[in-house]
Amino acid sequence: MEPIESGQTIRQQIIDLLCSDELTLRDLSQAVSITEKEVIGHLGHIERSIRRQGKKLVEIPYKCLSCGFVFDKRSRFSKPGRCPSCKNSHMQTARFHIE
Ligand SMILES: [Zn+2]
Repeated sequence: MEPIESGQTIRQQIIDLLCSDELTLRDLSQAVSITEKEVIGHLGHIERSIRRQGKKLVEIPYKCLSCGFVFDKRSRFSKPGRCPSCKNSHMQTARFHIE
């Protein structure tokens, strides 16, 4: 039995949203009225809790809008500064999904 934490309800809302759609950190922060940084914190917990249900958190990674470089191997959830390939800073924002 796990204790009921504050934030449990927000986590469940995020899980529900990600099960039905692909969303960016901004989409999630607006949907549940918390900051993007808080969303990132919740995503770490969500990833562990849904794994027990046989689900996984899928990240559609950041992508360079200039040359198409995909930030596949980056640390999760953090926004890249510049493209290592062409040094452009215009990125297609990462999106998240639960499957
Ligand atoms: Zn690039």
